[in-house]
Amino acid sequence: MLEQLVAHWARCYPPAAIAATARVAYRGRFAPSPTGPLHQGSLVAALAGWLDARAHGGQWLLRIDDLDAPRTVAGADAAIMAALRAYGLHWDGEVVYQSARHAAYRAAFAHLRERGLVYACGCTRREIADSLPSAHARGCETVYPGTCRAGLPAGRTPRSWRVRVGAAGPGGAPVIFADRACGPVMHDLARDTGDFVLLRADGQWAYQLAVAVDDAAAGITHIVRGADLRESTPRQIYLQHALGLTTPSYLHVPVVTAADGEKLSKQNGAVPLPLDARGVATALELAARHLFE
Ligand code: GLU
Repeated sequence: MLEQLVAHWARCYPPAAIAATARVAYRGRFAPSPTGPLHQGSLVAALAGWLDARAHGGQWLLRIDDLDAPRTVAGADAAIMAALRAYGLHWDGEVVYQSARHAAYRAAFAHLRERGLVYACGCTRREIADSLPSAHARGCETVYPGTCRAGLPAGRTPRSWRVRVGAAGPGGAPVIFADRACGPVMHDLARDTGDFVLLRADGQWAYQLAVAVDDAAAGITHIVRGADLRESTPRQIYLQHALGLTTPSYLHVPVVTAADGEKLSKQNGAVPLPLDARGVATALELAARHLFE
């Protein structure tokens, strides 16, 4: 079944169209957070990434995004790998763990700081939300209002560290990228996101920084992942610019939703993928339908 799907995929996303953007060999990746076993939603992302890599004769790497220690579940990485094997989604090379990459994040952070792009922020989430009543009321992601941009107000201590947006891009222009699935995307970071966090108040590196650094270190040329992460892409592209890294091509695939309309997750009823032959065939077919229908 997988071979047949590779042929379908190659027809939908022809290799020639991609080869024009990539002068180097294709390298994709799957980057699950080890918060539990894979479920039908994560299978769709894994399958799409694997198909894209195989359709282009490229490599497909596995990275375990275990930066968020409190959310990491012991043994989930092994369960994820066992499921990928059971589904025939074999990855290339050594598995990378984000928890082993703190030195690389520190170096990137230091580089941005030297460029004057980083500043300490003393604001709590509550303070930021309270300063933006309309955005908060609309239920949108809050836009940081820049309270600490010109220096910490007197009496405040640093909580998190933020990157200045608009300063590293070409002339502070909006970030524009071409999503292979939905076409051009334009995002004005200054207006829609604001200066965002690189180092969190709890001392953890932010996902955006870690991903930008790791994808570049692994030489990733093509990112295929769920559409829920599309809103993160402009921040990652901004950091790539600021750090002098290459921007890969992006393809965001539709996420599987639960009965409540939200992205399928453990919290809203996702169950671990079956690992028996019959269950594997059924789940794969369901994932393929989600991608191709
Ligand atoms: N670890 C992230 C997640 O599981 C995905 C990272 C990525 O694909 O950029 O949501």
